Amino acid sequence: MNIPDIIIAIDGYSSTGKSTLAKLIAGQYSFLYLDSGAMYRGVTLHALENGIIDNSGAIDEARLKTALETLDLDFRIDGTYIGERRVEQEIRTLEVSSHVSPVSAIPFVRSFVDAKLHAFGQRKRVVMDGRDIGTTVFPDAEIKIFMTATPEVRARRRFDEMKAKGQDPVMEEVMKNLLERDHIDSHREVSPLSRAADAYVLDNSDMTLHEETVWFQGLCQGKFGILE
Ligand code: C5P
Repeated sequence: MNIPDIIIAIDGYSSTGKSTLAKLIAGQYSFLYLDSGAMYRGVTLHALENGIIDNSGAIDEARLKTALETLDLDFRIDGTYIGERRVEQEIRTLEVSSHVSPVSAIPFVRSFVDAKLHAFGQRKRVVMDGRDIGTTVFPDAEIKIFMTATPEVRARRRFDEMKAKGQDPVMEEVMKNLLERDHIDSHREVSPLSRAADAYVLDNSDMTLHEETVWFQGLCQGKFGILE
């Protein structure tokens, strides 16, 4: 099946499997996959490594603003880079996860990331996942999906993912972090996580990945007609 040159926006709660579905769609239809959360995680890692976030979690916003002026944060085919350093592992730790939502609630951080995302979206055939892609970053995206699943299912997925990466997660901490991020992401003033009115909701609590792709194909067929 082929689909036209469009932007696909996948938003939703933490650990709903947005990136898994997005990567699969990108692979199937030769789209570029962009992980907007990785950009917020990259900013957060940089802030942590440079003492811009202290032990109590307080963020020195003036210093962060200055740091962003020279921060060389990039997506490449094999992941996220700060300068020439690949930081794909470092941005996925629980430490970064526990600071990323307050960092991403800062308006100048959002402007910094949005500028990068817009530049990537210039070319079509892009699938981008995040929290505000269909509402703020690409409000004209041709397909918008809003993903959700029960907190228990999401915490289990994140826990298994971290284990598979050789980390040593504690289930209660993983669940706490997930719910905290959901709360901050949904309640911040700028671009809160919310479903775009024209987004299709996908609750994958009880779905396999294969069922999700079948669901997506059905959506495309409904939207673009029978495709070869
Ligand atoms: O998608 P992921 O869980 O890696 O995103 C990490 C964090 O980045 C989210 O919890 C959220 O605080 C922030 N984020 C955001 N807007 C996006 C993508 C991510 O605020 N578009």
